[in-house]
Amino acid sequence: MKNSLFDPVLKIKGIGPKIQKKLEEKNIFNKVDLLLNLPTGTIDRRFCPKLDQLEIGKISTIFVTPIKYNFPRIKNLPSRVSCVDEFSKIDLVFFNSRENYIKQTLPLNEEVVVSGKVTFYKNKYQITNPDYIRSTDKGADIKKIMSKYPSISGVSDKTLQKIYSEEADNLSRIDEWHDLNFLNKMKWLSWSESLKRIHNPVYNEDVNKNSPYYERLAFDEIYSNLLIFNEIKKRLEKIKKIPKKISIDQINKIKKLLPFQLTDDQNKCLDKIIEDMKSNKKMMRVLQGDVGSGKTVLALISSYLNYLSNYQSAIMVPTEILAIQHYKFFQKIFKNQDIKIELLSGKTKTKDQKKVREKLKKNEIDIIIGTHSLFQEKIEFFNLGLVVIDEQHKFGVKQRINLSQKGSDNTDVILMTATPIPRTLILTNYGDMNISTIKNKPFSNNNIETLTKPLNKLDEIIDFVNKKINEGDQVYWVCPLIEESEKLKLTAAIKRYDFLKNKISYDIGLIHGSLSKNEKDLIMENFIDGNIKCIISTTVIEVGIDNPNANTIVIENAERFGLAQLHQLRGRVGRSGSKAYCLLVYSSSISETGKKRLKVMKDSCDGFFISEEDLKLRGFGDIIGYKQSGEKDFTIADPLYHSHLFDLAKDEIEKLDEESYAKFKILLKIFKKDKVLNIIDTG
Ligand code: ADP
Ligand code: MG
Repeated sequence: MKNSLFDPVLKIKGIGPKIQKKLEEKNIFNKVDLLLNLPTGTIDRRFCPKLDQLEIGKISTIFVTPIKYNFPRIKNLPSRVSCVDEFSKIDLVFFNSRENYIKQTLPLNEEVVVSGKVTFYKNKYQITNPDYIRSTDKGADIKKIMSKYPSISGVSDKTLQKIYSEEADNLSRIDEWHDLNFLNKMKWLSWSESLKRIHNPVYNEDVNKNSPYYERLAFDEIYSNLLIFNEIKKRLEKIKKIPKKISIDQINKIKKLLPFQLTDDQNKCLDKIIEDMKSNKKMMRVLQGDVGSGKTVLALISSYLNYLSNYQSAIMVPTEILAIQHYKFFQKIFKNQDIKIELLSGKTKTKDQKKVREKLKKNEIDIIIGTHSLFQEKIEFFNLGLVVIDEQHKFGVKQRINLSQKGSDNTDVILMTATPIPRTLILTNYGDMNISTIKNKPFSNNNIETLTKPLNKLDEIIDFVNKKINEGDQVYWVCPLIEESEKLKLTAAIKRYDFLKNKISYDIGLIHGSLSKNEKDLIMENFIDGNIKCIISTTVIEVGIDNPNANTIVIENAERFGLAQLHQLRGRVGRSGSKAYCLLVYSSSISETGKKRLKVMKDSCDGFFISEEDLKLRGFGDIIGYKQSGEKDFTIADPLYHSHLFDLAKDEIEKLDEESYAKFKILLKIFKKDKVLNIIDTG
């Protein structure tokens, strides 16, 4: 029976290849996966009324004696068994059950225990397809609380419940990985006892997210996650790099090249970055700062200093438009410097890509700016000293690991994110990194007024847009978010463009993902130069686009965007310090959460507040960026209930010494974290 925890589900009694397949669709492969797919509630079968005390709609366990069968000869009509107790009567109704089966399980004039939901039909109480029928002597095990599971098509709830109950009960003892004093202090049972209790609850509350049994399991999930980050961090800290030589003069020189002075927050973050570059440890730093807080310029300064230390820099951004915009900004600042900057994206011609690759290898490029294409297999650097990933929330942990392996021990890494990261997510997703934050923006964003408007007031919205343009403003118009398909997204944007063309009395442009680089370039240029007054777009403008003269943004179907994304979009305006407007347009089908989200947007411009609210409204997994990266780190822990457990896990892990790691081997295997370490080890 050794390690039966990790046996494939097929080995479990009651699970054949058909159910196996259904389970695998839910990422359930072995016994422990199955057991950690926790119940969502309970079914309480303790209500045992006499037949004169029945309550319609209630799950009831009754003791009755069958007295008469009725098997209709017409197909599709149900069979009925009339039953009585000493007070009244009830019908048991069966669809699709064979006569023989009914006669066997419900022999006439023998008392049975039946459990199911009581309904009332044509003046009679009845239970349709009862969940349980047992002879009276075996009935005791029905009158209890049972865990309820998300249903799996093709498997009856009853079967599922039975499998869980039995498997949990048969769990063999596992050596405890936590300190016993700690468990006592928390009043927690062992891992397997907790699991047993959740699958075979004594009280309805046992399966709740704040029960001690659930919390123990959630804690272990969090713990295993943080433990891995701790391990990655330790390994990173062991890497010795050649410190970069950076002088005050050099720093002052680059600062003089800028058209503005850095804010206090920017300076503080820059100091940290420089300190990291000069140290003999590899930099792994997250630079978080709200939209418009001025992160790009820090990337520019760091890559310049890196260049002066004779290393190459790579700046990776998620979209092409953004790559171009950064490229232009860098070129402008460095126009009189002897520094070679290049652009590379998936849309760069194959021939030119090859040229860029050769130059990178020969050290003929100092700073390369590009999209994901920067990190293809084929690309080799001469001596990559710095990687900056802009708007990195689109890149997951695994991609990060891959990426830092692209360089060498001497490669420093900065991740820049415009989505302020909620605290719990910092712990669980950036546990391997150091964090710097730009809190205050060069221009305060208090001058953005956010309005919500129903779609049926489209005319008023268009009037407003015309009025703003007339006053000298420029406008972003974001079309509905259609997740299902790029094609639909495009159709929606084109339709809106055609409609608005006749309603807005100025030149407008349409920008979307299917345009070529040149086409997009041209439109953006015209927008920035002021020739185009309004840009209709899909969400391509979401990240980073910078036109300080555009101070109005209209977002259609705003209720379908996540808060983080709305905040990003709104950050496109109000960049010059003048008064800006954000119109959130919602449709009549707006949901309650949709309304709440829009209210948060109306009430606050603080990205950190908004990101915490986002986490509360959407929970883990749905957060923008996590969905895209396909990573789902938590299935048990829930930030709404367990934020205290994240802190606790962090504290406990800090207390660990080297030797105690071995104890957690099974825990890591349970949550499949052992694989993450394998990736790192085999590199
Ligand atoms: P984000 O953090 O969203 O990437 P950007 O780097 O795009 O922000 O900066 C937003 C705008 O603010 C840009 O036009 C940038 O040139 C400008 N900016 C950045 N830092 C400062 C500063 N210290 N003073 C004035 N303007 C600044
Ligand atoms: Mg940016």
